[in-house]
Amino acid sequence: MQSEIRKMGASKRIALVAHDNKKKELIEWAVYNKTALARHRLYGTGTTGTLIENALNQSVSKFLSGPLGGDQQVGARIAEGKIDVLIFFWDPMEAQPHDPDIKALLRLGVTWNIPIANNRATADFLLTSPLLYEEYETIIPDYSQYVKRLQK
Ligand code: PGA
Repeated sequence: MQSEIRKMGASKRIALVAHDNKKKELIEWAVYNKTALARHRLYGTGTTGTLIENALNQSVSKFLSGPLGGDQQVGARIAEGKIDVLIFFWDPMEAQPHDPDIKALLRLGVTWNIPIANNRATADFLLTSPLLYEEYETIIPDYSQYVKRLQK
């Protein structure tokens, strides 16, 4: 076993993403939790990020809009260890043009064992966890066998 450890600081790098029908819910949640979110560094896909920035008056590092590649940019940052937490309110009632990107983003979040909230209740549980405000060591599963297989 060669599990890798990734350290998260006490202040987390949180990515926020919401599909169009879920944006209102995410903004409401973010405004309600404004004080807690102010302790962290925020990232977002283009439209979601702009809405959050305006609603909270807190700076948000913005990627491209989701359908234009923003989800993939967030996924890449997760793989690189540059995003600690993903809050992603995806719409269960409507197919999206970028469905493959959404699946890829969720897959990378699981692959790299980061905390993910896909609905408001989970986001509430996550935000009220003491671990969100302390240093934390994420255990990354051992993928060395997969790498070896690819290199043969
Ligand atoms: P958006 O992207 O924040 O630019 O709307 C979100 C998404 O659809 O993935």
